[in-house]
Amino acid sequence: MFRRTAGVLAVAVALVGLHAPAASADVVVADVVVAARTLTYNASGAAEFKAAVDAGAAVWNSSVVNVKLVSTTSSSANIRVVADNGWPRAQTTSLGNGTVWMGREATNEGYNPTRIAAHELGHILGQPDRKPGPCTSLMSGSSAGIACTNPNPNAREKSEVEAAFRTLKAAGVWQREFVE
Ligand SMILES: [Zn+2]
Repeated sequence: MFRRTAGVLAVAVALVGLHAPAASADVVVADVVVAARTLTYNASGAAEFKAAVDAGAAVWNSSVVNVKLVSTTSSSANIRVVADNGWPRAQTTSLGNGTVWMGREATNEGYNPTRIAAHELGHILGQPDRKPGPCTSLMSGSSAGIACTNPNPNAREKSEVEAAFRTLKAAGVWQREFVE
């Protein structure tokens, strides 16, 4: 969640449903071929935040190599991004899959929409909130203040996302659970 306020965290950012697959020569071969896990996102419901969502996705694409975010209009996208009047938030169903709400409450208060989009996509990529934190941290979210417009993950955040998707790849979960 983007908001600093503590409370009931309805959003569980967790690695769910990752099971070690049975050994398979096919998985191993495919694992070598695939360079990055591609996740699709559908921001057609993001209204005025569409450009910010694309910019936030581009930030991740330029920050990590083990996962790539690609825009789609398909209803079967890994990530659905919508706009509403609440606080920005994200809910994952499993690593790389879920819903982002680009809540207007934060932007109405002056928070930067691209930073919000990158932050919420960070949750989908397995990142937890790190609040309070400095502006150099993407996952410090709103705790860095309205003046903070940095949309970039820091070194730790990047390396953790890389590691999360590298683990999927190494486990072969990739081909089994994330068939595109
Ligand atoms: Zn958050």
